[in-house]
Amino acid sequence: MIEPIRIQKATVKKQKPKDKDLTFGTVFTDHMFVMDFQEEKGWYDPRVEPYGPFPMDPAAAVLHYAQAVFDGLKAFRQRDGKVVLFRPQKHVERLIESSKRLCIPPLDPELALRSLVELVGMEKDWVPSMVGTSLYVRPTIIANEPFLGVRPAKSYIYYVILSPVGAYYPEGMNPVKILVVDKYVRAVEGGVGGAKTGVNYAASLYAAEEAKHGGFTQVLWLDGRERKYIDEVGTMNIMMKIGDEVITPPLSGTILAGVTRDSVLTLMREWGLRVSERPVTIDEVAQAAHKGQLQEVWGTGTAAVISPVGELSYKGERIVINGGRIGPLTQKLYDTIVGIQYGTAPDPHGWTVAV
Ligand SMILES: *Cc1c(COP(=O)(O)O)cnc(C)c1O
Repeated sequence: MIEPIRIQKATVKKQKPKDKDLTFGTVFTDHMFVMDFQEEKGWYDPRVEPYGPFPMDPAAAVLHYAQAVFDGLKAFRQRDGKVVLFRPQKHVERLIESSKRLCIPPLDPELALRSLVELVGMEKDWVPSMVGTSLYVRPTIIANEPFLGVRPAKSYIYYVILSPVGAYYPEGMNPVKILVVDKYVRAVEGGVGGAKTGVNYAASLYAAEEAKHGGFTQVLWLDGRERKYIDEVGTMNIMMKIGDEVITPPLSGTILAGVTRDSVLTLMREWGLRVSERPVTIDEVAQAAHKGQLQEVWGTGTAAVISPVGELSYKGERIVINGGRIGPLTQKLYDTIVGIQYGTAPDPHGWTVAV
């Protein structure tokens, strides 16, 4: 049975910002998708309603014990005006995997996909068209049962909000300076590093602030046990090219299974590159740099697609990559993914889904 989605339209529409004035995550569209969960009923009442606050009991479980998950994907307006989502099924799968880890009852994947497609379809006019801009889609699940005991909650809200966002690189891609931290860790084996959950972000703020005060854009996280294996860079997956090998850490549970990571790995394997998902230590990277073999380092994630790393700072030593300039593979990956998203390059894998 296909469950109907109830629709309540906003009576007053907001004014839309101009494409060139867009930033990240400050403006939200007229409507949101909402669905409730109660133990006796399961997930029920899927609906689109005017964007607005939820009434929230001060004892709601999410506010105390952080039982929540989210995901993030984008809708693009292609040259011919068509609006597409990038790999929404993959994001839905991940939201469900994250939910399981946080003891949140999983959504029906088909209904979750429909929630994204229908909401974005309704808000099509909000999808900006300037190159680099997009409509950011944020599905979220929070535990809203008012109860201060520690156990999985018995009621939840699933909601999806949309935010038109500006070009990530209005002045072109700029390689960033990264601080390798060994004082703090983001995740440990057996923990929740592999789930997209707010606590990972809360846990990362302190180190990121310290790095910013030191003049760095972000931190590079090492593993929690030995503090020598590379995990992630900021809130992105990390990749590097050493000699003719492209290396990225394996999905061992401490790192997030990025959809961009998967897309980029797929492309590089098709291009015939030698790609390894294997543990890599910061010392291996430093030694490769000394030998002149560290060619490129970049992060991958939905927000920026690809973020070139120009410099790593580890124990006071500066490791400059490719003279601080963006490398050819980094650039090619960016151009290819962005081309697929905006419909200016072929999409042989069917990664884009029209709404
Ligand atoms: C979301 C996220 C990523 C990137 O995932 P994408 O699906 O490519 O956007 C990487 N690392 C962390 C910690 C994340 O939260």
